Amino acid sequence: MSAHQRTIAHVRAYTVTGGGADYHDQGADHWIDDHIATPMSIYPEYAASRQSFGLNVLGTLMVEVEADDGTVGFAVSTGGEPAAWIVEKHLARFLEGAKVTDIERIWDQMYRSTLFYGRRGIVLNTISAVDLALYDLLGRLRQEPVYALLGGPVRDELTMYATGARPDVAQQLGFIGGKMPLHHGPADGEEGMEANIALLADMRERVGEDFWLMYDCWMSLDVDYATRLAHRAHEHGLRWLEEALIPDDYWGYEQLRRNAPADLLITTGEHEATRWGFRQLLERGAADIIQPDVGWCGGITELLKISALADAHGTMVVPHGSSVYSYHFVITRTNSPFSEFLMMHPSAEEIVPMFSPMLLGEPVPENGRIRVPDTPGFGVEFNPEIPTHRPYTH
Ligand SMILES: [Mg+2]
Repeated sequence: MSAHQRTIAHVRAYTVTGGGADYHDQGADHWIDDHIATPMSIYPEYAASRQSFGLNVLGTLMVEVEADDGTVGFAVSTGGEPAAWIVEKHLARFLEGAKVTDIERIWDQMYRSTLFYGRRGIVLNTISAVDLALYDLLGRLRQEPVYALLGGPVRDELTMYATGARPDVAQQLGFIGGKMPLHHGPADGEEGMEANIALLADMRERVGEDFWLMYDCWMSLDVDYATRLAHRAHEHGLRWLEEALIPDDYWGYEQLRRNAPADLLITTGEHEATRWGFRQLLERGAADIIQPDVGWCGGITELLKISALADAHGTMVVPHGSSVYSYHFVITRTNSPFSEFLMMHPSAEEIVPMFSPMLLGEPVPENGRIRVPDTPGFGVEFNPEIPTHRPYTH
């Protein structure tokens, strides 16, 4: 029996403990929680740590989709127990009994049926994980990598930039650029602004003129502050300013892109979802690069549409993090010329797999480049030593 005749027998949703796809869930000694500017930084009691306001409350969702021959595809995203509930109690009905190739219809039914409480956020994270699991399953049944299902690669390997606290180390490791978290927002006043510029200037000194340096602002600024930061940072060759404003402020992004120096790129979209959300950014000319997370924006099925819309607007798509789920997509798109690697080492000084230790077989950059493996599906296995829990059944 060929793959397209197979049906989906079971859908299961798990939470994961002991390291997972929710990269936010790190200890206090990790650079990812070292006084990073956030939308909550205006409240002093929540300014020092992102965990203090609950960044890690959701945890990881792992979805398994099993075909009638016993083949299992899986995927992970951020969502934890509430997302597991949505899969088991609501979305499973659209999968079980369907053909494994009914990916488009299943996506549409998941989206339409959740509109009354969904549209973005945790519901789209959940839909994304189910969609990625379906692609993983189809790849396994066809014995093909996901990138082959998406039209095939347009280049031999991925060129990567590194996100972390040490762009100077990233340069030594062969990456094309380094993106640092911004530590100070408007609440830290002019002193904070000077500290932001001093860190950039110091890093520029270490890496020389040509290496890309970027600042990730994680939604922490307002238009005025972001405009001033863009002009000050431009003097030190900042390549792009990422996610300066809250995701709902499309008008602010439009204004910021007009205000910023022409050769300093405005990027955003990590917390945006669906083609309609990205349409807001694209039609306003609000970003030079959009950065959807394939585990949050609606999965591969939706990212294909977001990417086509961006291409028609002449906008690059450089997905946020997400390891193999991004790599299989990026390698197939001409308007995704490079990819992000999140440095999950606590001090960002060594390369570790992004979802380590949860996934086995996860490729890592060598000299800043990744060759996407041609193993079936997304080419990774769930580490059986990582404890999982299925909080709900249907
Ligand atoms: Mg970011």
